[in-house]
Amino acid sequence: MNISYYVYYGFITVLETLLRLFPFPAKTGYQNVGNPNVDSPVMLTCNFHLTILRLKKATKGLNYHLLVANSKGINVWCAATGGHLNNHSVISVIKTSGIEDKVNHRTIILPQLAAPGVEAKVIQKKTGWKVLWGPVDAKSIPDFLEQNYEKTTEMKQVEFRFIQRVEMAIMWTFLIAIVLMPIWGPLFKIEALFLLAQITLTSLLAFVSFPIYERLYRREKEKKKTFLSLGNLLVLLINLAYSSIGIILYVLVYKRDTSWILLRWCIVSFLMVFLMNLEIKGSTPTYKSDSHADKLYDVKIDLEKCKGMGICIDVCPRNCYEMDELKKKITMPRREFCVQCGACIVQCPFDALYFQNRKGDIIKPETVRKFKLNLMGKRN
Ligand code: SF4
Ligand code: SF4
Repeated sequence: MNISYYVYYGFITVLETLLRLFPFPAKTGYQNVGNPNVDSPVMLTCNFHLTILRLKKATKGLNYHLLVANSKGINVWCAATGGHLNNHSVISVIKTSGIEDKVNHRTIILPQLAAPGVEAKVIQKKTGWKVLWGPVDAKSIPDFLEQNYEKTTEMKQVEFRFIQRVEMAIMWTFLIAIVLMPIWGPLFKIEALFLLAQITLTSLLAFVSFPIYERLYRREKEKKKTFLSLGNLLVLLINLAYSSIGIILYVLVYKRDTSWILLRWCIVSFLMVFLMNLEIKGSTPTYKSDSHADKLYDVKIDLEKCKGMGICIDVCPRNCYEMDELKKKITMPRREFCVQCGACIVQCPFDALYFQNRKGDIIKPETVRKFKLNLMGKRN
């Protein structure tokens, strides 16, 4: 890979990160990576342009067959939980790509984060291809192949690392900035730049600060507390603290201490950032908000139905499960980490898992499979 590739890669990464909420569709179908032969692995990914670019960068030097399935230009996890990367997308790319003539095996590796949307059982039944769930991160693929398709716990887990939080924060703040600038520009004139800087800085800091109050949220979630909670109060205080940075900057630069413009600026920017952070704090592709009603659904286990085969362990991106080897039944010792992605429910072949809310309402596995999870949370 030469310098022009890195310049291109950097440019695309920045562009598609800033505009992450919009789809960037790539061509679907077959691609060969390196020089694959009839025994080489077959892997599948979504048709979000940046995902394909990152996958190829992470697997440089490997030889494999790649199938790009239609996910409407959305990344794997968002597309799978939203129902855009589904059984149909996978079956149609297997059937139309000509892959069956290129290899002498019938095993396909799917990204683990596709598990909320794609049913391994259905793919096998309709195509004869066995699905293996690969790691959550493309960077782990070389090790995964090297270890004969074995995944370590780390390879199965979504970590929400600092750099990913920064990426998400940049995406949200950039979008808010481009939507609000045409309004604020004429309204606030020169102050609009400070307003923009403050909103960007405050949102970035508040978003990446989530781990500070994450533990508190988890405890509150267990107690079923929602909007009026200590966690939300903490968000308010953190936002107030961050917002004051912008106010101090403004006063230092303009040497103005009191003015209606300053006051108006402070109130509007603080409210904007506070509301945004209240809404998106801790958001994942499976629900957009921490205060969202969907968050109150728990995964329940029907031990009568559980046969202890551990597929749920293989697809859970938050390492919630553990096997009771004596009883051959699944347990959920880390249920507080669950992000309600539904992957375990969709993949359990015995329908031993389901969602239940605090009122006792149940969402059956067939409902989760049929409707997936969508970003508006209309699972019921
Ligand atoms: S819950 Fe389902 S997938 Fe998990 S061990 Fe039991 S039967 Fe297997
Ligand atoms: S336990 Fe929660 S996080 Fe893990 S797969 Fe099931 S729904 Fe997703």
